[in-house]
Amino acid sequence: MSARRRRRAPPEEYVPGTLLDWRGSVHWSERPLPCRYCGAPAHLRDSRMKPAHKVCAEQALATQAAEAADAYHPNGQTT
Ligand SMILES: [Zn+2]
Repeated sequence: MSARRRRRAPPEEYVPGTLLDWRGSVHWSERPLPCRYCGAPAHLRDSRMKPAHKVCAEQALATQAAEAADAYHPNGQTT
């Protein structure tokens, strides 16, 4: 009974709140503006300095990635 099992969490496709790191002050604004995704007031700014909630931006990225994966064809054809 000496073996300790180390369990690793299985890789997950997307964990909300873990995709982007917006802790830097560059992503914060004192003035709330409508989120580009949901329209609710947001103090955060995305990488293009557009107002956005982090969770909204992450969800949009996840959606984009899923759509890109769906549209991807290994032989290079797009249709
Ligand atoms: Zn939002």
